[in-house]
Amino acid sequence: MIPEIDVRSLSAKKQYEGTLAFDFEPEDGSLEIPFVSFSSPVHAELRYEILEDGTVEVRGTVTFSLKGACSRCLEDAEQTFTGEVDALFEEGEGDGETYGYHRVIKLSELMHDSLLFALPSRLLCKACIDQEE
Ligand SMILES: [Zn+2]
Repeated sequence: MIPEIDVRSLSAKKQYEGTLAFDFEPEDGSLEIPFVSFSSPVHAELRYEILEDGTVEVRGTVTFSLKGACSRCLEDAEQTFTGEVDALFEEGEGDGETYGYHRVIKLSELMHDSLLFALPSRLLCKACIDQEE
């Protein structure tokens, strides 16, 4: 489950920063490498900070593993990848660079975007990774 950040009630409690760690299932169709699938849920580790003007910074990482056929030699392969999460949420509408929110930040869109951004274009087995180095 992807949690929400309840900015209004956190601000009321003067709790302006915190961390979140959770797992979520990637959306179907987010992966476009042939014969490759996610081998576990995506793990997110996030830190948020609520700024004085209501803007909220969310930073952290998403980690996930892929398994399937190596994109070069078709042997079995499994690799773990980590992507960066770095976003600003503004009260109201986002402006394209930032995300918008109303009282509560829904992290689903950010998690989906961060995952898409972190997805590799191919999966390699150990032998092929060694060959490339
Ligand atoms: Zn290979």
